[in-house]
Amino acid sequence: MPAELLAWYDRHRRVLPWRARPGEVADPYRVWLSEIMLQQTTVAAVAPYFANFLQRWPDVTALAAAPLDDVLTAWAGLGYYARARNLHKCAQAVMRDFGGEFPNTEAELLKLPGIGGYTAAAIAAIAFGRRAVVMDGNVERVMARLHRIATPLPAAKPELRALADALTPEARAGDYAQAVMDLGATICTPRKPRCALCPWRGDCAAFRAGDAEDYPRKTPKPDRPVLHAVAYWMTLPDGTVLLRRRPEQGLLGGMMEIPTNTWRPEPWGLDEARDAAPVAAKWRDLPGKVRHVFTHIDLRLTLLGGVVQKIPAGMIAAPLDKLGDYALPSVMRKIVNAAVRRGE
Ligand code: SF4
Repeated sequence: MPAELLAWYDRHRRVLPWRARPGEVADPYRVWLSEIMLQQTTVAAVAPYFANFLQRWPDVTALAAAPLDDVLTAWAGLGYYARARNLHKCAQAVMRDFGGEFPNTEAELLKLPGIGGYTAAAIAAIAFGRRAVVMDGNVERVMARLHRIATPLPAAKPELRALADALTPEARAGDYAQAVMDLGATICTPRKPRCALCPWRGDCAAFRAGDAEDYPRKTPKPDRPVLHAVAYWMTLPDGTVLLRRRPEQGLLGGMMEIPTNTWRPEPWGLDEARDAAPVAAKWRDLPGKVRHVFTHIDLRLTLLGGVVQKIPAGMIAAPLDKLGDYALPSVMRKIVNAAVRRGE
């Protein structure tokens, strides 16, 4: 079966900005950067970020030497910001612990910040040609359909991994890893798989049964919890806006924010929101709400606006037209837009 897949890959390999062309040696820096960016993010969303990063920081030496804030700012909009902080930490660890060369085994790659099992396997296979079992959602789907696995995800993961392991060849490890991921991304798609074009249809149990779309089976997800918070739109008399850095740990860790109070299940009343403000001010209720849906949280924000006389400890003041220079995550940009729309 690997032979059929590799033959298909040789004819249909996707040309992606981070991939080596046939005959070229893959660059571990590009493989690593792209794999981190592609976690939970689409190829279309990643492409411009990848190009920008590569232009600004063409190798791991340059990225390790960059100020963290520059990296976070360049990452803004791509989401899952812990990835950006780990990216920077990882570049520094490669310089410090490995003399500027990415290690070439899964075991050593796993020691680096932000590199988990999937990414270590992908780098080992694609950049260094080592046999490695690369499991992502695409590969899980293909394995579940090939074998018509009745166990739902996530419980089925070990079984799917064992099946993928049994199929993974020694030869052409990097091409095989990319081929099986491509098959899942372009042919064995979640809906309407294009089985007629699939090199594995002769061996596929779900194709034979005609129920490929029913696999992989999934355990129903609980609803996302709704959390409520208040964002404090604080300005100085000269109109500059106050920002604060969020704690390193937790959601949006280390990113700049329009200060918010505790995110909690109960909505905040106006009086208690005023009491919970980071500084005393004459707070005005800014009408309307901002909603932002994270993977695991549905956040609803109320906005209060106030003018303060001096910069409180732990905050910085930024001119409104310079807010784009700060590493503001998407939810904070929504707050800025909402406040500006309301004439603040
Ligand atoms: Fe997926 Fe269809 Fe190929 Fe089976 S035959 S692996 S269901 S695309």
